[in-house]
Amino acid sequence: MATYIVLLGSPGAGKGTQADILIEQTGLEHISSGDLFREHIRKKTELGQLADSYMGKGELVPDDVTIAMVTERISSPDCDRGAILDGFPRTLVQAEAIRITLNEKGTDVTVVPYITAPEEILIARLSGRWTCRASGHVYNNLYSPPAQKGICDICGSELYQRNDDTVETAKKRLQVYTEKTLPLINYYRKQNKLVKIQGNQPIEKVTEDLLAALNIEA
Ligand code: AMP
Repeated sequence: MATYIVLLGSPGAGKGTQADILIEQTGLEHISSGDLFREHIRKKTELGQLADSYMGKGELVPDDVTIAMVTERISSPDCDRGAILDGFPRTLVQAEAIRITLNEKGTDVTVVPYITAPEEILIARLSGRWTCRASGHVYNNLYSPPAQKGICDICGSELYQRNDDTVETAKKRLQVYTEKTLPLINYYRKQNKLVKIQGNQPIEKVTEDLLAALNIEA
């Protein structure tokens, strides 16, 4: 049986950090729509240019191109065992699209951990976040600084601040989240797939709660 996990939660809730840990524990593929867009931006593709114009303002990239990009990724054979979806779906239209794609493969979303944290924590996390250029490892100058300023502990590459990780854009992203993504909580609750996880805890404790929700032993 394939396992498709949708990590739900606002920007800054810790979805990316937890996804990185979960892929180690489960061997599933990690699909981050934000990372896929950043890859397109880096490669200067047409989709990258379009996505950049929305991302820089903290707005969502339109559903049609986002759905096409993620559907293509999830349809590749390495995702046949399942995947961890991080940052997708973010709208009801996207949620229905992924349901239909998975149903066509004879499967469906398995479980939806919903990671929550208070807004002031989210803004502090987003605006203090530094990301490694080579592999996307994430640091925070308040909560989890690198050993050497500006350098990734894991791969030694340069750390940079995403242009949507400013206080202003972080606030806009949280507002967009409330408007467009919060309805997904009810959508998945009605399907009995939602499991609430307290994100305002040490990283290891959040992982422990997630593994318990997924029925996986650490
Ligand atoms: P993230 O890395 O998940 O925080 O995403 C960064 C930005 O990429 C978001 O603020 C959006 O502009 C865009 N983005 C990522 N995932 C989606 C999605 N599922 N739908 C629309 N836009 C997205």
